[in-house]
Amino acid sequence: MMRIKRTNNLPRALYIHIPFCLNICSYCSFCHLLYDENRAIAYIDRLIEELKQLKIGELHTIYIGGGTPSSLPIFIIEKLFKEIDKIHLDDDYEFSIEANVESLDEEKLKFYLKHRINRLSIGVESFDANILKDMRRNHDAKMVEDVIKLAKSLGFNNINCDLIYGYPHETTNILKNDLNCLVALDVNHISCYGLTVEDRSILHAKKIKPQDDDMLRDEYDIIYKFLNEHGYKRYETSNFAKPTYESKHNLTYWHDEQYYGIGLSAASYIDGLRLVNTSNFDRYLHSENIIEEKEYLTEEDHLFYEFMLRLRLDEGLSLDNIFNEVNFETKNKYLRIVNKYLDRNLLTLKDNRLKTTYEGSLLLDSILIELL
Ligand code: SF4
Repeated sequence: MMRIKRTNNLPRALYIHIPFCLNICSYCSFCHLLYDENRAIAYIDRLIEELKQLKIGELHTIYIGGGTPSSLPIFIIEKLFKEIDKIHLDDDYEFSIEANVESLDEEKLKFYLKHRINRLSIGVESFDANILKDMRRNHDAKMVEDVIKLAKSLGFNNINCDLIYGYPHETTNILKNDLNCLVALDVNHISCYGLTVEDRSILHAKKIKPQDDDMLRDEYDIIYKFLNEHGYKRYETSNFAKPTYESKHNLTYWHDEQYYGIGLSAASYIDGLRLVNTSNFDRYLHSENIIEEKEYLTEEDHLFYEFMLRLRLDEGLSLDNIFNEVNFETKNKYLRIVNKYLDRNLLTLKDNRLKTTYEGSLLLDSILIELL
């Protein structure tokens, strides 16, 4: 199998993982650790070491995710920002940080602005008091409103809010109220995630079941229609934005472009090589070798990723030249499957651009399984 060609271009996106959280949410199975000052200090030192080893040119996007990056007090994260300050960002850059409502205040927001952060991604998840309590989130609807108003008044004009739908006991009225509240806050970007109960989550341990697929589907239809009517265009299955506010960093992933990732369990994609760091905290801090997975992508892998990632986007995938580097058999297999789903109206093809229909976007996984 042929490996994908080297580009010699440096990645223009950087992801930085902060694994600490102030508490553990009921549905979460991500790589997270309860915040502890000494561990956080040691972790930031290790992150800085890792950052210094990268060959970084001009970046277009930086994304600090987690965990809860905003759980770190300024005196701990300041050191990392001093290093990031040295990185050159292009004129059109996007620099995001994930935050929880209760860990943001005026001092922290001003600090982020001073260090060039121009996009906040806030874990709102719901406005319903009972559901928030069940999720083990430590905010309420009023706190969301206050923090978004504060952030805007200080100069943040690019804010994403995450919403979870399909939580046990959620009704369509609760969902509609959540959507109304979000739209009233006039944020530019909304990410909506259907609840899944993952193995390592508290919900799973308590044997709690998610809503059934029909209910999730009905809720997604409500979200899609409501957000469209209020000026938020869906550009990716779970992501809705006002014009020009699509997440530049996440588009890097969906466009299958290169990126650096540093920190616990962070992934990088550089010149056809996919690397994943260890998710073991002690190994990350103390070992010379922190790479847990290393995979060279072949042209066939690359073709599959292009389909998998780009078909999630409403802009779809250009078929021009896409089969140039794969053999006749692979090309035929893809075209046969594409034609099958064109006939079933789950895909459309216009000007050589392949897109999912609305129905197809919700059934994309089953299309992709056939391409594997
Ligand atoms: S959902 Fe976010 S804030 Fe909650 S435990 Fe997981 S990473 Fe932390």
